[in-house]
Amino acid sequence: MILILTQDISHQSAEFRQLMDHLNALPGIKSRIHNEKGEQQTLTEVYLIGNTAPLSIEDMQTLPGVERVVRVSEEYRVLGRHKDDDRATHFDYNGVRFGQDTLNVFAGLCAVDTPTHVEAMLKALRDHGQVCTRMGAYKPRTSPYAFQGHGKNCLPWTFELAGKYGIKVIAMEVTHESHVDEIRAALDQTGNPTGVMLQIGTRNTQNFELLKIVGRQQEFPVLFKRGFGITLDESINAAEYLASEGNRKIVFGLRGMKTNMGDPHRNFVDFAHVPVVKRLTRMPVCIDPSHSVGARSRAADGLLDVFHVVAQGVVAGANMILVDFHPNPKAALVDGPQALLMEELPHFLEDVQLARETYLKRQGLVARYQK
Ligand code: PEP
Ligand code: MN
Repeated sequence: MILILTQDISHQSAEFRQLMDHLNALPGIKSRIHNEKGEQQTLTEVYLIGNTAPLSIEDMQTLPGVERVVRVSEEYRVLGRHKDDDRATHFDYNGVRFGQDTLNVFAGLCAVDTPTHVEAMLKALRDHGQVCTRMGAYKPRTSPYAFQGHGKNCLPWTFELAGKYGIKVIAMEVTHESHVDEIRAALDQTGNPTGVMLQIGTRNTQNFELLKIVGRQQEFPVLFKRGFGITLDESINAAEYLASEGNRKIVFGLRGMKTNMGDPHRNFVDFAHVPVVKRLTRMPVCIDPSHSVGARSRAADGLLDVFHVVAQGVVAGANMILVDFHPNPKAALVDGPQALLMEELPHFLEDVQLARETYLKRQGLVARYQK
């Protein structure tokens, strides 16, 4: 059960203390407080854990400081959509809104390589009105002999360049606790010219200790990739690790499943799950066409497979697109063969816009036909 308290309630107030005294006296029930700091207000929620079945919603609603009560189902307690649950399905970070009703494009380099390539990418994004990007500094690779990313050394200049071109959010994978500290230190050192969304890659979807660490900080939002060889339920439960530790600024990323049934794509494209994740949870959903398709193959109609799957995901309501571009894919140190070219950026963005307009029109049809 979740008690949603009145906005901006002070934890020092008499009503808050009365409420907590009452809850602490309930037999077999433990309470856990979660503060959600928004740009304008702070929302406090109290999670009641234990046998809450005998507690009535009506009684709990009359307790001091309580605005609303939600009875949660067992699954996905924090992130799930529960009956009569009208909690937010969006969050704001560094001036950018991420929600189940918005769409953000994160085009960028799979891996940071040279300042020239990074700058060419960022300049193209700025010239096309983009404020988000992807830039990998820590790359988990199949072979120990492959390039693992430039790590912390590339962070200060990458962040400074991002700031120079008006980038507000960089999606950046972390594979170890120390990476979060290094990112924070580099942002501090450079005067916070940009923001970072920490990415949990598919190889770490069930790295529960990493999830707990990333979940305990609330400074950075998280792009959480679905595990490529586990069920959707297992992946959403893993995302719940982040949220149960306190960070619920999470975008859930679909990136394809590992099976040869998806051949000739690198992974089996799973964007049919966009509306499913939005129904089961309150998380915005990201699609990653680059790592799912994994190639620049072109369909008979002239469009790249990457464009086609993006359109499929966006028409189904995707909220974020993570996509690899590179100014010179032959020189890319990671995933060059799947990267889109700089000159394809305007075509890509216009194609995304078309698909988005179609999605919004489809929502209009729902409103018209399901009165
Ligand atoms: C990536 O986005 O660079 C990446 C490695 O993705 P995934 O974890 O989905 O393979
Ligand atoms: Mn990659």
